[in-house]
Formats: sequence, structure tokens, C-alpha cells
Amino acid sequence: MSELGEFELIARYFKRPERALGAGVALGVGDDCALLQPSPGMQLAVSSDMLVSGRHFFADVDPRTLGHKALAVNLSDLAACGAQPLGFTLALALPEANADWLAAFSQGLFALADLHGCTLVGGDTTRGPLNICITVFGEVPPGQALLRSGAQAGDDIYVSGTLGDAALALLALQGKVDLPPDLLAQTRQHLEAPTPRVALGMALRGVATAAADVSDGLLGDLGHILQQSGKGAIVHAEIAIKLIATYADGTGAAGPFGLKVSAPTLLQCVLAGGDDYELVFTAAPAQRDAVQRASDTAGVPVTRIGSVTTDAGLTLLDANGVAVPSTVFSSFDHFAP
Ligand code: ADP
Ligand code: MG
Repeated sequence: MSELGEFELIARYFKRPERALGAGVALGVGDDCALLQPSPGMQLAVSSDMLVSGRHFFADVDPRTLGHKALAVNLSDLAACGAQPLGFTLALALPEANADWLAAFSQGLFALADLHGCTLVGGDTTRGPLNICITVFGEVPPGQALLRSGAQAGDDIYVSGTLGDAALALLALQGKVDLPPDLLAQTRQHLEAPTPRVALGMALRGVATAAADVSDGLLGDLGHILQQSGKGAIVHAEIAIKLIATYADGTGAAGPFGLKVSAPTLLQCVLAGGDDYELVFTAAPAQRDAVQRASDTAGVPVTRIGSVTTDAGLTLLDANGVAVPSTVFSSFDHFAP
């Protein structure tokens, strides 16, 4: 890194004053190791996510939103476990040390980190094709982490926020659908700057029986819960399709937003589009009031979209109760043949 030395770069863009260290962090950037100090008796929750240029984002994406998103996708995993964020490490490969890029990237990163009291405690910086790998650390009381394996037959299935907007934005950016400029801006916000549902995840401790974040498409991520719980599910397509914030009437005619996107395309975005970073979770019907309270506490709407069944397999029902083949809505798999 001749433009800006490696250590100068770290000091300038990624090291912050000691007083910025949050709770749970005894030592941050600058030594051989960081020292984390979770609250007494708490379990440490750990997760990594890597963002690769050309695969997860366009190389010319706004670096500020990229900084936000790199941390957001990691915080989303803590949210899915009901963990409180403590800190994170950042392993960064950069083709060049561009000051403007680094300033914007670190601003986006720290704005979200500060919102969640999540401290950057260390990392690694090297020259190479643009690649961002973050590992987050959080804490959760023993036995209270939300797992994928806890869904029970008869549980309700919920989704937070809206689904499918990120996928719709991607289709628009690829020129496959036509969106008016204001709608493109709105959906693009979901794609480039998702909001991790950390407060909701924490509020669902002791309420939800299982949870996952929706990163690779609803049906795929719900599928992980079902598989690991040894259960199946019924999901109502007519409820799901309304989860897209930009919901049109789905007939291909102009909907509320004057959108001309066909119903199958909208459903594809909602059920199999990636990058939503909402939570999908299950809870017993007796917990409906508690789920509503969690939703109110977190300020995030939740929608009941179906229920867990004893028999394995996922059945997607249309408005008339007729099964829709759900295999066409395959979720994203990096190593799919
Ligand atoms: P080492 O050689 O011991 O691995 P480095 O020289 O790579 O350490 O890094 C020096 C310090 O800067 C360490 O505390 C490391 O955690 C931190 N660091 C390196 N890169 C980053 C980064 N991208 N973000 C935050 N901290 C970083
Ligand atoms: Mg190193």
C-alpha cells in the first residue's frame, strides 16, 4: 500500500479514541489481540460474513452504503440469535488505498456500529481484490439464544418488515424490470442499506421457538428452520406477496404505485429473492400477544404467514387454498450446479 501505508491507513480510518470502546470491550484496535469482556455468565455469540466484489455487490457501489451493508449483514446474524452486539473485527482486502473511498466506507461502517454500540476491535488489511470479511461478537444469556432447531408443530410462522424489495431493486438495476425513479430509490435502499433487526431478535428471546435471518430468500431460510427442527410448513402465498413494500396489484396492471410487474415476478422476489435481512421466526399461537409486544418494543412490524406442520415439506397455498409448486422458487446457493 504505497499510496498510504498499511499502518497509517488503519490508524486513520479504523482506529478510534479509547473512549469510543463500548461495554464488553476491554482492548480494541492496535495490539496483537483485542480483549472482549462479556457480562458475567453470558454466552458469546459469534458469526462471520464475507462480501466479495462482483458477487455480493457492484465494484462501483457507494462505499458508504457498502460499509453499512458489510456490518449490517453480520448484525443480522446476531439478531437472528437474539444476541446483543458487543464488537466486530474487519478483514479487508483492497486493490488500492484510496482516501476518499476509505473515508466514506468507514463512515458508513461506524454510523451503523455506533447505532448498535458495536465496537470495531481489530482486523487485518491487505492488498487484493476488494473483499470485506467481518466477524461479529455478541452476548446472550445461556439457553436463550434463538436457534433454527426449535420450531414445534402448530407454531405460527412470522416474518418481520418487508420482503422482496432488495430483489426487485436488483432486477431493476439489471434492466429486467422497469421501476419509476422514486421506487427504484426506495427499493435500492433495501438492497444497499438493509436494517438489521437486532432489537426485535432480542425482544423475541423466550417468545420465539426458532429464528433465522432472511439472507438467501424466505423459502430457503425458512427451509433451514424446518429441516433443523424436523418439521414442515404451510405458507400462504397471498399474504406473502403483500410483504413487498412496493406491492402492486399483481395482475400486471398498474397497482398502487403504478408498477407493471407480474405477480409471479413479485412472488419470486418475496419468496426467493435474497438480501432482505428480515427475521423469519416461529412462535406458539399462545404467544401471539407476546410477539406483538416484541414487535412494538422493537418498532418493527411482523406478519404471520403460515404455520409449522408435523409432516416434513413446505406447502405454499394460493388464495383458494390450492398448492402452488414451491420448488420453482429456489433460493440462492453459491455452489449450486
Ligand atoms: P498483526 O501483524 O499482529 O496481525 P497487524 O499489523 O495486521 O497485526 O494489525 C495491527 C493492528 O491493527 C491490530 O490490532 C489489528 O487488529 C488492527 N487492524 C488491522 N487491520 C484492521 C482493520 N481493517 N480494521 C480494524 N483493525 C485493523
Ligand atoms: Mg495482521
